[in-house]
Amino acid sequence: MIHNFNAGPSVLPKEVFEQASQAVLNFNNSGLSILEIGHRTPLFEEVMNEARSLVKELMQLDDDHEVLFLHGGATTQFMQVPMNLLNENEVAAYTETGTWAGKAIKEAKLFGHVEIVGSSKHTNYTTMPHDLSVPATAAYLHITTNETIAGTQWHQLPYDCGVPIVADMSSDILSRVLNFNKFDLIYAGAQKNMGAAGVNLVVINKNILGKVNRIIPGILDYRNHIKEGSMLNTPPVFAVYVAMLTLRWLKEQGGVAAIEAINNKKAELIYAALEAIPFINLPIAKEDRSKMNVVFTMDDPAKEAAFMQLCKEQGMYGVKGHRSVGGFRLSLYNALKMESVEAMLQLLKEFAAKNG
Ligand SMILES: *Cc1c(COP(=O)(O)O)cnc(C)c1O
Repeated sequence: MIHNFNAGPSVLPKEVFEQASQAVLNFNNSGLSILEIGHRTPLFEEVMNEARSLVKELMQLDDDHEVLFLHGGATTQFMQVPMNLLNENEVAAYTETGTWAGKAIKEAKLFGHVEIVGSSKHTNYTTMPHDLSVPATAAYLHITTNETIAGTQWHQLPYDCGVPIVADMSSDILSRVLNFNKFDLIYAGAQKNMGAAGVNLVVINKNILGKVNRIIPGILDYRNHIKEGSMLNTPPVFAVYVAMLTLRWLKEQGGVAAIEAINNKKAELIYAALEAIPFINLPIAKEDRSKMNVVFTMDDPAKEAAFMQLCKEQGMYGVKGHRSVGGFRLSLYNALKMESVEAMLQLLKEFAAKNG
């Protein structure tokens, strides 16, 4: 048996893989593959509508918040956000918390001014900033709720910063209950916690749109996508379908609060096991640790190599840390089962006994 701890693309529920593969062969008993039907047919429109309404329901969104499924990864949103929300002479507030925030900042600078209102650069991104002072004139505040590479996560969200909040939630979307209506724009590439690569979820408070002077190319203007119900052009049909199935699965699990309780337990067990091993280092400040991506190193490269080997032998996939930080990273997304966590706990125990 394989246990998939990969950071992304990542594990999805087995039921989703089964249903998705069936739909490739014969979608809803239509005799047609989901890959060959028209996207403006009732067959597919139902998929899109269900996906959007599941997001609304699971996130308990109010009527000001629109749900879009758009092409491209989260990286597209790094530029689409400032293009739609930031005038050339205005300032956007950004938090600098790691690789992903850094990329968002770089793109925003193409469209206007960026003020860094909180940074963890000085700790080499092993903490999250806690006291932000956001200028009241900022067009918005941008945060990265979970830094997938560094292994940090916002646990106290800056809801009352006084300006619209934009959040990259690619790696912790729908993993915990947040006050989603307090965000004016949320985006997430689907492939970490809610589906296959190729589609972004974008949740947007429609009242923040229409305030920039620049001409926005049609396909990049959120207003056009809202008007057309995420069907401005051919949507990434299969990726939307996989996301819809994953959302259905999440609802069957009891929704976001229920999965959060399991996610908390998984993270608690893994961190406790790692803390108990003297030669393992957990670089992230305890209060800022990610419950999605657990990052650690060992005090000796020989031990790291031996651990890697043991993981390989026991079917632990995707445990290597990002090349920029080294060590290991265990990603504990929604679809990672408790039994995979238990298998890892067992492996850690064995490894510690042998190498202690
Ligand atoms: C993976 C990731 C991205 C990039 O997503 P792509 O879909 O590859 O563009 C952006 N932000 C965060 C937090 C991520 O984890």
